[in-house]
Amino acid sequence: MKLKLLREKIYINGQWLEADRGRNFEVLNPFDGSKVATVPLCEGQEARRAIEAAHQAWSVWRHFSPRERAQLLQKWAGLIDDHREELAELITLECGKPIREARAEVAYGNNFVKWAAMEAMHILGETAQMDASNQRMVVIKQPVGVVAAITPWNFPLAMITRKCTPALAAGCTVVVKPAEDTPLTALALAALAEQAGFPPGVLNVLTGLPAEIGLEMSTNPLVRALSFTGSTAVGKLLMQQCSQTVKKVALELGGNAPFIVFKDADLEAALQGVMAAKFRNSGQTCICANRILVQTEIYDEFIEKLAVLIRQLVVGNGLKEETQVTALINQKGLKKVDRLVKAAVNRGARLHCGGSISEDIPLAYQPTLLTEITPHMEIFHEEIFGPVAAVMPFNDEEEVIDLANHTPYGLAGYFYSRDIGRVWRVAEALESGIVGVNSGIVSNEFAPFGGIKESGLGREGSTHGIEEFLETKYICMAF
Ligand code: ADP
Repeated sequence: MKLKLLREKIYINGQWLEADRGRNFEVLNPFDGSKVATVPLCEGQEARRAIEAAHQAWSVWRHFSPRERAQLLQKWAGLIDDHREELAELITLECGKPIREARAEVAYGNNFVKWAAMEAMHILGETAQMDASNQRMVVIKQPVGVVAAITPWNFPLAMITRKCTPALAAGCTVVVKPAEDTPLTALALAALAEQAGFPPGVLNVLTGLPAEIGLEMSTNPLVRALSFTGSTAVGKLLMQQCSQTVKKVALELGGNAPFIVFKDADLEAALQGVMAAKFRNSGQTCICANRILVQTEIYDEFIEKLAVLIRQLVVGNGLKEETQVTALINQKGLKKVDRLVKAAVNRGARLHCGGSISEDIPLAYQPTLLTEITPHMEIFHEEIFGPVAAVMPFNDEEEVIDLANHTPYGLAGYFYSRDIGRVWRVAEALESGIVGVNSGIVSNEFAPFGGIKESGLGREGSTHGIEEFLETKYICMAF
């Protein structure tokens, strides 16, 4: 397919531009290392100009009526639907993910645009009587102003729409920096936003050096909110940098999701759930099942059945329909997975299948099953971000809750049980912002997505998501 939406320039103030110093970097297809495109290597100064343009545009955009903002968002959503196949192909080319998952991402990501269009029409205030008979409390919601968004490579489309569209719906303008591995989908979205008719400067996308652009975004006083999805280390740095100008920060950081299977679970459902929660995007999502905890009574049976399913996974080129697992995003990611697996095996983990880098695809890791994991292994504590199922046994509910919560992270947790009392107890006891009960797929636009502890601050999606981009103003009204 010819990629009509491929853009090799940045988009600032409604214009497609080169980097100031004319430098570029290559975007590679993780499957075979081939060059997909080159994009501008921007630094802090281009970010500054984008922020200034967004600030200028804000004075116009904030006065668009909610209906006008909603209509533009709807138009954008319609164009994304019209180009769904090309967007999916672009996602697979730059991120590697299997094409069927890429199509699902386009639909999932576009649901946030459609949701935001509805949310734009539901920004409501409050009024109340006060003690003095001639006074009323009036609370209004106003857009915070310029929003900076920094997004990761594992959902090149959905992470952009999940952040930008509630901000736009709220009346904010946005500057986005997509991950350097996957800038093309973001630029394609900008091309469609331009076609939809967003005024210049309302949505800006620039590519380039993360630290330099990030520093400008997190220190420039014109930016009033920063929304970031990525590693906990970078999130902490950005939060620190944002403190100088007391910006609102919304952070979606790392996870270490437990996936618990109790002996009273529907075993087949739990197996389907764990396959979905573990191997989606070749294991590269922040809500992937990182530690699979199985009650001793069903441990052997579960492992036997899980091994069969893992061995059946089709590893290949993401562009092929049948592919289920494919190349990881880059060498750094691949090395980390290999290191965690080798270290676990050295410390006594049992390898049932996989356990090494693919012989055919340089950046792919073989779907792997490791058992007898213990909290003494790094793999118990670190985000694997690869197609590796790490399983350990547990004896009872109390023990497994302690194990599950034994981490500074708190993004997602899953468990399977048919005991209604246990379902309530465990759902409430898990220290995570998201809990999947008898469900391995949990994210959609209706639901508040976000973490507790070191997994982040704030929520995306749902009616809560837009709050990150609104200020609450109290007006004391006397008459
Ligand atoms: P990962 O290791 O999964 O790539 P990162 O946190 O490094 O996670 O990347 C997530 C996003 O953060 C990407 O867009 C990346 O370019 C950006 N990023 C990385 N380092 C910085 C930084 N120092 N300041 C701002 N953004 C950064």
